[in-house]
Amino acid sequence: MLIGVIADDFTGATDIAGFLVSCGVATTQLIGVPPADLAVEAEAVVISLKSRSCPADEAVADSLAALAWLRARDCPRIYQKYCSTFDSTRKGNIGPVADALLDALGADFTVICPALPVNGRTIYNGYLFVGDVLLEDSGMRDHPINPMTDSSLVRLMESQSIGRAGVVTAAVVARGPAAVKAELDALRAAGKRYAVLDALTDAHLDTLGAAVADMPLVTGGSGLAAGMAKAWRRRNQDPSRAAAAGAPQPGRGVVISGSASQMTNRQVAEYKAKAPSFPVDPVRCLADQAGYAREMAAWVQAQPRAGLAPLLYATTDAATLKDIQARFGAAASMAIEATFAALARQLAEAGFTRFVVAGGETSGAVVQALGVSGFHIGPQIAPGVPWVRAVDKPYSLALKSGNFGAPSFFFDCQPERVAG
Ligand code: ADP
Repeated sequence: MLIGVIADDFTGATDIAGFLVSCGVATTQLIGVPPADLAVEAEAVVISLKSRSCPADEAVADSLAALAWLRARDCPRIYQKYCSTFDSTRKGNIGPVADALLDALGADFTVICPALPVNGRTIYNGYLFVGDVLLEDSGMRDHPINPMTDSSLVRLMESQSIGRAGVVTAAVVARGPAAVKAELDALRAAGKRYAVLDALTDAHLDTLGAAVADMPLVTGGSGLAAGMAKAWRRRNQDPSRAAAAGAPQPGRGVVISGSASQMTNRQVAEYKAKAPSFPVDPVRCLADQAGYAREMAAWVQAQPRAGLAPLLYATTDAATLKDIQARFGAAASMAIEATFAALARQLAEAGFTRFVVAGGETSGAVVQALGVSGFHIGPQIAPGVPWVRAVDKPYSLALKSGNFGAPSFFFDCQPERVAG
């Protein structure tokens, strides 16, 4: 194993896992702290917690449990992954988690770098910017859970953690990895516990990644991890191999669409013109989930084995959705998710192994229903949507939220079945 990542939420974990694979590192993503006996072979293991907004003591306990699991597998480096907008106020838990991880690792110094220039998150003189403005002047100021009213990562870390923080400025970063390393040594010698790393460009992240590639603990967003992965790859990685463990397995498949986004509406429209399709009635989901799911499963099984995978869709246009919501409120959406979950379970029992799912919440419901504890990240179907293969079950999944994928997405998941 090259690195163990402790991520503070699921989508953040997916994000960093995708970056690592695209930089040539074979990666497995686990949902929550895995059972002690789970066998995983990967160069990177990303453990997704739900700690972003929880009290510091809970976040610390969960992070230490994840660390213990990783250390039991001789993981040589730990990465604490948080959001590129830091999402952690003066009372937040990023500092306490970093303090606890440092102590547990017997270390006394690490770096702080949420920068993700490709998404406009940059750090200059230790201040975090979102696009053209300081973090505190961005929409994050009004975030419902973590309102960010200070852009100084030095002040935020010093108020959350037990140590002092310094900055490695962009001017130093521009001089290359050796200069960064020398500056880190100087900050540590001056008694700092944390070094906030300036990063304005991907090239800066590559320099920083090379400089911190062998530290026992690094903290940051997904960008710095990509910089580290590139540094390892220069040494010994073969990028073509990284996605092999997650490559889609053969078997019977189904497409389940619970997203009502515009792109998903287009994807459903294109697909149902050519493939067997089943429109899902929200009223029946509300009235009789179990019976309706059985009916759907029977329909799926009655479709021809060859040819395109059958589609079941709740996806509908905005006006119809509004009407359903006005009549039933959130209950309709929950009932649809529960019906799809029951359907996935029944199809899995019937031997189906490929699940293409549209919708973030819908994907969560299906993954939970299938009892999957984690995935090997496979090749990309569309930007941000890889195939994933369950670590402990025979399932391959394509999990697509909202607007991801091209209009041909459902076809793109089964090129071997697209005629002509
Ligand atoms: P996205 O990633 O596009 O946001 P999600 O699955 O996260 O998709 O969310 C879509 C939500 O809308 C789900 O809870 C789903 O059950 C619900 N939904 C989808 N179609 C309908 C419908 N026809 N009526 C009511 N709710 C619907």
